[in-house]
Amino acid sequence: MPRTLIIGGRVIDPSQSLDRVMNLSIEDGRISAYDASPNGQDTIVDAAGKIVSPGLIDMHVHLREPGREEDETIATGTAAALAGGFTSIACIPNTEPPIDTQASVEFVHHQAALADNCNVFVVACVSRNREGKELAEIGQLVKAGAVAFSDDGAPVFDPELMRRALEYCLMFGKPILNHAEVQELTKGGVMHEGLVSLVLGLGGMPAAAEDVMTSRDITLAEATGGRIHMMHVSAAGSVEIIRRAKRRGVRVTTEVCPHHFTLTDESLRSFDSNFKMSPPLRGKADVEACIAGLVDGTIDVICTDHAPHALEKKMQELDRAPFGIVGLETALGLVVTKLIEPGHLDWSTAIAKLTINPARILGIEKGTLAIGADADVTIIDPACRWTVDPTRFRSKSSNSPFAGWVLTGRADTVIVGGRVKYRV
Ligand SMILES: [Zn+2]
Ligand SMILES: [Zn+2]
Repeated sequence: MPRTLIIGGRVIDPSQSLDRVMNLSIEDGRISAYDASPNGQDTIVDAAGKIVSPGLIDMHVHLREPGREEDETIATGTAAALAGGFTSIACIPNTEPPIDTQASVEFVHHQAALADNCNVFVVACVSRNREGKELAEIGQLVKAGAVAFSDDGAPVFDPELMRRALEYCLMFGKPILNHAEVQELTKGGVMHEGLVSLVLGLGGMPAAAEDVMTSRDITLAEATGGRIHMMHVSAAGSVEIIRRAKRRGVRVTTEVCPHHFTLTDESLRSFDSNFKMSPPLRGKADVEACIAGLVDGTIDVICTDHAPHALEKKMQELDRAPFGIVGLETALGLVVTKLIEPGHLDWSTAIAKLTINPARILGIEKGTLAIGADADVTIIDPACRWTVDPTRFRSKSSNSPFAGWVLTGRADTVIVGGRVKYRV
């Protein structure tokens, strides 16, 4: 087999506390050696001045297929993932129909194999048909390859169902990923409830809606010993609740999306629906709490909650437009520009939250450049300055609030299973 040699890059692999300039060899789809010298037959990838990271992982992506192919397909979503530097994604099952059977898990795997872009791991439904009434066939879904369970798009609102789901998933060592929102508190809301919603006269979604369910889920995880992963944390109160729970040893993990550590509810003054998502953009103190949570390790993962919506849907008035934004192709640049450059996170800590941490939560053998590991590698140009232009996204949708932003840092070369899948 021919060898690929990535030469001269700064290899940062938090899974083994590695951070040094070296050559990385790939043979037969796996990481095969460090520090090898080139021989005549090697395919050389020059990474001088670049960062060589384990392939990035986004554990929260809405691919929309089956059912809403006008917004995104598995092929376009995985192409967008590659362009954003992601070699693996986990897709959320709120498709139409939802992914709650063995056959539907297999369908996603099949479409992902046909697309042949990045790796796709399937998160399956907690409840049958995502109705929140009875448990889905968890055991069958695990057998089909589901790595975690979630009814995202909506919360698991029934606490008894959540308790049983935690108990049941514990037997399989799988986490529940929950969208924390007490919907009785957010009914009619389009944005964060606060001074800005009051001034604009728009329905509010109070932070308490997130905090209350975060507390409930942690209480149930503690009672059952199950694993709960709080999705897209956005409120300062929730960050603090999770921080305290971690201190007493509850099996809780969490994630934050770039929009929640970069934007506030002030953006809604534009009435632009690209600032409408759930949970909503909150206040300055919440943004600061999310950053503090990333810094002290309360927040384990950075994910996108990539939520594509076709233009005609997002172009509706603010109160009618759907929640959600695309995120795959801007996440890395926002992490570099808003977390690393200002000094909140060092490279190793940031990369951990995009690689080994989500891999451990999902229990997948990814996120490392250890010898013998799958050769999923993201080569990052840390100094590249570029302007976000949603018309050039690989995603089928362009509902981004970051159009026109100038960001630093982007994926230069993306290698999946030893094959170069994306190059700038
Ligand atoms: Zn959600
Ligand atoms: Zn989501």
